[in-house]
Amino acid sequence: MKHYPAEPYRIKVVETPNMLSKEERYAAIKEAGYNTFLLKSEDCYIDFLTDSGTNAMSDRQWAGMMIGDEAYAGSRNWLHLEATVKEYFGFKHVVPTHQGRGAENILSTLLIKPGTYVPGNMYFTTTRYHQEANGATFRDIIIDEAHNPEIDLPFKGNIDLNKLQALIDEVGVENIPYICLAVTVNLAGGQPVSMKNMRDVRKLCDRYGLKVFYDCTRCMENAYFIKMREDGYADKTIKEIVLEMFSYSDGATMSGKKDGLVNMGGFLAMNDDELYTRAREMVVVFEGMPSYGGMSGRDMEAFAIGIKESVQFEYIQHRVEQIAYLGDRLIAAGVPVIKPIGGHGVFLDARLFLPHLTQEQLPAQTLAAHLYMESGVRSMERGIVSGGRCKITGKNHAPKLETVRLTIPRRVYTYAHMDIAADAIISLYKNRDSIRGLKFVYEPPMLRFFNARFDYCD
Ligand SMILES: *Cc1c(COP(=O)(O)O)cnc(C)c1O
Repeated sequence: MKHYPAEPYRIKVVETPNMLSKEERYAAIKEAGYNTFLLKSEDCYIDFLTDSGTNAMSDRQWAGMMIGDEAYAGSRNWLHLEATVKEYFGFKHVVPTHQGRGAENILSTLLIKPGTYVPGNMYFTTTRYHQEANGATFRDIIIDEAHNPEIDLPFKGNIDLNKLQALIDEVGVENIPYICLAVTVNLAGGQPVSMKNMRDVRKLCDRYGLKVFYDCTRCMENAYFIKMREDGYADKTIKEIVLEMFSYSDGATMSGKKDGLVNMGGFLAMNDDELYTRAREMVVVFEGMPSYGGMSGRDMEAFAIGIKESVQFEYIQHRVEQIAYLGDRLIAAGVPVIKPIGGHGVFLDARLFLPHLTQEQLPAQTLAAHLYMESGVRSMERGIVSGGRCKITGKNHAPKLETVRLTIPRRVYTYAHMDIAADAIISLYKNRDSIRGLKFVYEPPMLRFFNARFDYCD
């Protein structure tokens, strides 16, 4: 049997969640219009809605909060964060931002001209928004296999170099302001990129003088996969791997809410002096002084400490393997999931889970609601409801992937919590024939998944 590492932490502070009865859960989800986004957090026993900003901080991070230096300029905590980012990521310059999208806004505004193209290994919602808001067209250059939930590959987040070359030939290098390379790829299920692929992308870009910026939100999880799966990295530390990864980039945007092990924070980093000067000018207008960028001193201290903790092998091994444990239990029971299991969550394939429902009967929304009713576990629909409607035809976009996402907060839950989720999902799978589909009873015009309400069909 595979060995799963024990929790590398002792619990010092506890939060007591409400454990509602089944009747209470049925009432709560009905009240929420069968939309898990509309549930009260207090009504969820286990909350797998997102891994963003839901991390548990360590005693050292909390201690760091007490030495917050809230000076308007030149805070010592900023100097600590800046030095930490330089040491762990290897960049020459760092600009703090309130969270990842603040960094995306600055980077996209400074580098993109209207009518250009930004290629990336699948998109992320806010990243793509800022690229398109500045007049660029996003082009997906991830390998084809990433779009197929069944194909099990070690580095399913890789960039397809042929697609990148084809785009260069089609639009010309002068129309590509930069390439966005995400480690790991969130929407593909937390799939990593190999070091070889990063090196090859760098080589191709060097030939054309193209810039590569990483979305480094989950780079420690990516580094762990490289250590475990790629030849030549087994004996390297996570810190060494992370440094090598970023040596192939020109800069990066970071959401500290994920691998930074904090609840809020972010940064933009780069090597180019001129870009740094312009980013510093812009951060003042949108985020705050270049010595806090929307974070308080105590937040920056916790973030600096979080980065150092995130490269500890025992931490990152448990982090990724705890998720593999949940995924492996489901796979062993025959439950359809996206393969391989990624670095931050498990994605159920709702179409195969509820094959008697058409996509218009909202299988992923239905499954997320039933998982909550069964167990008090909150998850998220990522399928036709999140896909929205076509602005021109008014028809639903029907995405290929119809998934329920279980994203696991860092250092918050134990294997016993994974068992509760797995048992509930397996039980639902055994009784799947009895599950009826849902339909909209209220459909907001934009980003409908947040506020939509549903009821059972017929
Ligand atoms: C969360 C996320 C972002 C945006 O970061 P925020 O801190 O939420 O603004 C960007 N890219 C990826 C891949 C993310 O998961």
